[in-house]
Amino acid sequence: MVRKTSGGMRDWFGLFQSATFENDTCHLIAGMGNTGVIETEGGLVLFDLPIKQFGPRLFREIRGITNKQVKYIIYSHGHFDHCFAYEPFITEIKEKGWEMPQIIAHENLLKRFEKYRMLDKYHDWLNKQQFASVGVKRQEMVVSAHETLDPTIIMKGSEPYSFTLSNCTFELYHDKGETDDSIWLWAPEKKLICAGDLMVSSYPNVGNPYKVQRYPKDWAIAMERMMKKEAEYLVPGHGQLIEGKEKVKDVLLSTAEAMHFVHDEVVKRMNQGKWFEQIYHEMLEIYPDKFKNHHHLREIYGCYRFAIHATYRLYHGWYDSGNPTDLFPAKSNDIAREFIRIVPEEKYLEHATSLYNEGKLQLALHMLDVIIKGSENERSAATLEALNLKIRILKEKTKEETSFIAANIIDNAATQIKEKLRELKKI
Ligand SMILES: [Zn+2]
Repeated sequence: MVRKTSGGMRDWFGLFQSATFENDTCHLIAGMGNTGVIETEGGLVLFDLPIKQFGPRLFREIRGITNKQVKYIIYSHGHFDHCFAYEPFITEIKEKGWEMPQIIAHENLLKRFEKYRMLDKYHDWLNKQQFASVGVKRQEMVVSAHETLDPTIIMKGSEPYSFTLSNCTFELYHDKGETDDSIWLWAPEKKLICAGDLMVSSYPNVGNPYKVQRYPKDWAIAMERMMKKEAEYLVPGHGQLIEGKEKVKDVLLSTAEAMHFVHDEVVKRMNQGKWFEQIYHEMLEIYPDKFKNHHHLREIYGCYRFAIHATYRLYHGWYDSGNPTDLFPAKSNDIAREFIRIVPEEKYLEHATSLYNEGKLQLALHMLDVIIKGSENERSAATLEALNLKIRILKEKTKEETSFIAANIIDNAATQIKEKLRELKKI
């Protein structure tokens, strides 16, 4: 709930005023995610449709501005918050007897939809984890790819695509970043870029712990390609309009530099023969203040710590410790049980408590896990106390955590332990 109301995340969820610019011909309709609207004499071009639940609000806002027919809908990528709010528009098209608009997407978006259908239950579970603090847990299926408005114009490989509508040019480019199906729009007459989630007004979501591989180096390249356009306006996938040539350039350049940095520094260390743990902790120490303090690189959604994982995973297999003990490890519960056989659980609890009192929360968690995993009796006084202390530590970490995704993972775990404790007390 903390994150729900924090400034950066309010913007991410589209809880801000929509913007109109370029002589009232362009609009950023705030949402989760944003929609870019370009008005021409011949009709409207919409860049992205938010999550299904935002459909009525988006429709109302657009129809409060103009009654023109929707001619093109462009999907920046196939995530649920960028191409599912189509229903009110389809209803309107049927009512007015209009022709269906062209729907433009990259070919990989279709593969993504297929994947979502195959993994629908898993994705429903993970979205409920990732967005737990905004109440999605209570909903049945939050999002579903079983009903989609599929593209009619499909961009292939890295081939750009362009079209004109009433003397206005629309150039579409494919680049990889958050996904492998990203496209972004350059409308030269409007000096406008619509970036999709290649720009989310947070540190890029390049290493989401639940999601498939993402692409830090390609992300940097996408930013540099956008910079060449010298845009005046940038509509991000989430967050407020970025306006002014210098501001747009700064945001793109800083994001490019941040992506080059995490990529190149991890790669350098891999070439030095280092394993993940060493790379990760070294990377934390060298993170430059210029990124840490940049408004558009705040770790409000994604974070640098996740990006280190993403880069390593891009080039490395799952054996990441260099220790053959970890190649075919025993069950962690069995390992913990052996520790408890030589040192009683009360001692671990005592030590965890003193670590906690010294402010060493992470180390305290590792100690507590020895008891929680290894105790022969899940209702022993030490186990129950360990569970309670773990909840307290996770709650403290949630409060300190700036990344929405990280905070939800930690806070969910605290909730699950609370439920477990309630069960243990019942029987
Ligand atoms: Zn998004």
